[in-house]
Amino acid sequence: MMDAVIVNSIIDWSALSDVEQQAALARPQLNDSATLTAQVSAIISTVQQQGDAALCAYSQQFDGLTTNTLCISDNKKQQLLATLLPERKAAIELAYNNIRKFHAAQLPRDIEVETSQGVICQLKNRALNAVGLYIPGGSAPLPSTVLMLGVPAQLAGCKRVVLVTPPGKTQADAIAAEIIYAAELCGIKDIFTIGGAQAIAALAYGTATIPKVDKIFGPGNRYVTEAKRQVSLDSKGAAIDMPAGPSEVLVLADANANPAFVAADLLSQAEHGPDSQVLLVSNSQSLIAAVQAQVSRQLMALPRQAIAAQALKHSRYILTRDLAQAVSVINTYAPEHLIIQTDIDAELIEQFDSAASIFVGKWTPESAGDYASGTNHVLPTYGYSKTVSSLSLTDFYRRYTVQTLSETGMRNLGPSIVTLAKAEGLDAHANAVSIRLAALEKCKE
Ligand code: NAD
Repeated sequence: MMDAVIVNSIIDWSALSDVEQQAALARPQLNDSATLTAQVSAIISTVQQQGDAALCAYSQQFDGLTTNTLCISDNKKQQLLATLLPERKAAIELAYNNIRKFHAAQLPRDIEVETSQGVICQLKNRALNAVGLYIPGGSAPLPSTVLMLGVPAQLAGCKRVVLVTPPGKTQADAIAAEIIYAAELCGIKDIFTIGGAQAIAALAYGTATIPKVDKIFGPGNRYVTEAKRQVSLDSKGAAIDMPAGPSEVLVLADANANPAFVAADLLSQAEHGPDSQVLLVSNSQSLIAAVQAQVSRQLMALPRQAIAAQALKHSRYILTRDLAQAVSVINTYAPEHLIIQTDIDAELIEQFDSAASIFVGKWTPESAGDYASGTNHVLPTYGYSKTVSSLSLTDFYRRYTVQTLSETGMRNLGPSIVTLAKAEGLDAHANAVSIRLAALEKCKE
């Protein structure tokens, strides 16, 4: 039987002290305990030393598999694809098309500027060579994440795209057909069935079977997240997309919002995991009460109610004086997902300065962006959205600059460079210019 109390009491924001307000918006401690750090570090070094043998041993230890298959054969892929329901195939295609349209519009443009006569500066964008996509699969297979990572990798034209996902429950290569199909649409050939920290280590350092990549993308549980953190600190490891924490939603709703819709949105986040963050901010006490009643009612019908109920234990219902105060609470919290259902959505939209992805109006649930509207669902959490952005096409590129000085450019710029280098006491820098200026003078003679 479910705990009777699954909704917390209403927090009256205006009645809180500064310290209490901070506490009301605090996230749970990220699990960076010494034990987790040491455990993940041991997994990474074992994979570095023992390669594929370590991967198979960890699949046995953590995923309960005795097979040592790390790859999926073409035959197996076809077998799995034959089981895919037509409506699922169509839904994946619709999501793929929308995500592709939105990301294709983000294509970065090279620029070229003549900053002084004869001095050409360029900013160029080149796709990353090899990228690794981690698709979580411990508690549920996530084909939507394949699209969110695979579409931008495909559009950017990364030469090598390596997908890893935990092995199937019965057989290593028996993963969800939806993952195979989404990967196929994104042109991904390399699919390996390994999960957890060992998969991240394999992508970062390479093994006989798994190719090393330059950057690793994708969400995952605490082992995955900690492994990404560790490999990103090693210059021989791999870069990562963004720091990650438990997923979160904040809904802003006024008296006229639909309480059933708001409750459904809160629960859709709560079912992600016990550490999901769920917040409602409103200027209407009666709306909050109505949402709480709906949350209790709708929760009972959810198959994942035990997980959602855990998350709801640390949900927060915040009553503000007015919508202006609500905006200030939201900007302080910096939510990963922000849903707004008020009479003045259009007026409010430009006032949010820290949310990672905003869902506007009662017909826009978070689920739209999670699956199929076209925006990316890989987003910074834990307040990082104040400075870190939603995953986009540009994350699959590196930017670099090119500069070319002609003789005229050197004549124009040279004397000032010499002056600046001497002011900094860097005579070799000054000489690298003076020697050229002298050569140009000589040519003139
Ligand atoms: P997962 O793929 O992240 O992790 C499963 C793997 O963890 C297993 O294959 C296993 O090898 C390893 N593992 C399990 N127990 C272990 C242990 N005791 N020691 C070491 N390794 C162990 O799948 P998951 O566990 O279902 O987690 C998915 C996570 O991804 C959830 O937290 C979910 O909220 C998150 N997620 C986030 C987003 C986002 O965009 N922020 C999207 C989707 C999912």
